[in-house]
Amino acid sequence: MEKKQFQTESKKLLDMMINSIYTHKEIFLRELISNASDAIDKRYFKSLTEPESGLNRDEYEIFISADEENRVLKISDNGCGMTKDELENNLGTIAKSGSFDFKSENSAENVDIIGQFGVGFYSAFMVAEKVTVVSKVYGADKAYKWESEGVDGYTLEECEKDSVGTEITLHIKPDGEEEDYCEFLEPYSIQRLVKKYSDYIHYPIRMDFEVNKPVEGKEGETEKVTERRTLNSITPLWKKPAAEVTEEEYNNFYSSKFMDYEPPIKVMHYRQEGTVEYTALLYVPSHAPFDYYSKNYEKGLQLYSSGVMVMDRCAEMLPDYFSFVKGLIDSSDISLNISRETLQQDHQLRTIAKAVEKKIKNELLKLLETDREKYEKFYKAFGSQLKFGVYSDYGTHKEQLQDLIMFVSSSEMKYTTLKEYVTRMPESQKSIYYACGDTAEKALKLPQAAAVIAKGYEVLLTEDVDEFTLQTLMSFEDKKFVNVSTDELDLATEEETKKLEEENKSGKELLDFIKESVGGLNSVKFSNAVGDHPAALSSEGGMSIEMARVLSKMPDAGEGLKASLVLEINSAHPITEKIKALFETDKEKCAKYCKLLYAQARLLSGLEIENAEEFSGLISELMV
Ligand code: ADP
Repeated sequence: MEKKQFQTESKKLLDMMINSIYTHKEIFLRELISNASDAIDKRYFKSLTEPESGLNRDEYEIFISADEENRVLKISDNGCGMTKDELENNLGTIAKSGSFDFKSENSAENVDIIGQFGVGFYSAFMVAEKVTVVSKVYGADKAYKWESEGVDGYTLEECEKDSVGTEITLHIKPDGEEEDYCEFLEPYSIQRLVKKYSDYIHYPIRMDFEVNKPVEGKEGETEKVTERRTLNSITPLWKKPAAEVTEEEYNNFYSSKFMDYEPPIKVMHYRQEGTVEYTALLYVPSHAPFDYYSKNYEKGLQLYSSGVMVMDRCAEMLPDYFSFVKGLIDSSDISLNISRETLQQDHQLRTIAKAVEKKIKNELLKLLETDREKYEKFYKAFGSQLKFGVYSDYGTHKEQLQDLIMFVSSSEMKYTTLKEYVTRMPESQKSIYYACGDTAEKALKLPQAAAVIAKGYEVLLTEDVDEFTLQTLMSFEDKKFVNVSTDELDLATEEETKKLEEENKSGKELLDFIKESVGGLNSVKFSNAVGDHPAALSSEGGMSIEMARVLSKMPDAGEGLKASLVLEINSAHPITEKIKALFETDKEKCAKYCKLLYAQARLLSGLEIENAEEFSGLISELMV
């Protein structure tokens, strides 16, 4: 029979599975059971509208059988089954991971890839040298058999099967020096794995056990009998009282359900009573999924109607700024035949969503108060999303989020909340200062930041798009946010301001000359807010220097994304004396110095020098 080839990416994944050094080979069973359970869900679902296609609810089951002698493990379900095309498409390709990107051939990193994606059906190849899938759908008279020994490809042919559903046969690999694959054939270790990973599956997972039973009426004699046992406790995890669920159970459930092999940073499991009643089991992951900050990421919670899953990912249950939360809601108030179309009007759901949002916020605040280290870890992963939430939707959610966000502070370069910052403000300080840069370290080096710090004040160092967040917030507890490199910086005392005004007035001729020589500046002035540096740049008006820089990097940056630049010259710096003298004696040289001064200021602000050639020429001239 003709062998069909796997798609390139599937082949790579498969190869990885087969050669996996992954220590968690045992997860293959969970993956297959979870697929079987999904398939039963699908069949059950369909039977709600097409009763003849389904079974009685108590007839559904997942059956495992192990033949230790022939090294064969079978997992069967009476779920929806797969058509020929579905076998081809679902098992010949990696269905949902179009963004699979195998950059690394390095096996240590591959382990991570496995961990990140969850690997579904392919994980069977971690323990099996040959996998056979026989499947039949409702209404078809033929079944189909898919078979593969790994990367070489697979075969697909017609076959016989009595009942609707899928049977997966694993030909377990021979035992190696370090690997005991035989454990996956041993009934009691299979039972242990089911308990560990699949206990909550809400269809019975059954297996036959050979047991010795006393023969009735014959003292001391036993006989071998086969006993069919249900291995899982079936009760969904979230239906158990929180006090009875162990951390391990929560974590196992999380990783099997949400394909994340790192334990979550926070679990929220609670039952809400009142006008709407629901049970929630929510998780905050400890790291951002690989596609979290991309358009492909889909937020949402699973919805259950009294234990039956009715929607896999309901986006309406989570605001964008909490899109990282994974989990499920189970409520008898959720209708069994809810659809994407009726969601919007569903009053109950909206009420639940509001309550869930409030709960998440409160739990995060609690985490912030009680476990700083954990919160910071969370914040590193998802803080950008919270800050994005502040400025999106025209700042509608800023009140909701302002207590959750943090910035790096100039004092010790540690994260601080706005509340903490304000508590530490000395009496004389009126505003909350922030400096913007590509990174916090760069922002700290801004001359104006140094000037504010020299005053004994703290500066928030913002990265990336943080500035938009602060601009949207505008103030916190009546303290205005002030960008240190704008004309809003208000450090000077009345007396100093007066003195500077006079200096600017009397030096007007020189300042005009500088503006003229440099070009492109909005204004030039003497200042005492640039620390020890000879000069620095600031901006006037709404567009700050950093904002213009960030915006100009965006793909559709148009013209007009320029900040109105102000060159602030340190009136107390020796270079200023020099320039003043040159202005009287040698205007040509003075103009060159001004250009250098400006170039320095640009560099300090994290901008490029506009004319590197001219700059190099001027420096060389000075050096020889
Ligand atoms: P995932 O389950 O994450 O989508 P898998 O590789 O595990 O990825 O499975 C691919 C697809 O194959 C599933 O989405 C499902 O459509 C189908 N499938 C797998 N196992 C079964 C099964 N036992 N019964 C019916 N369909 C199945």
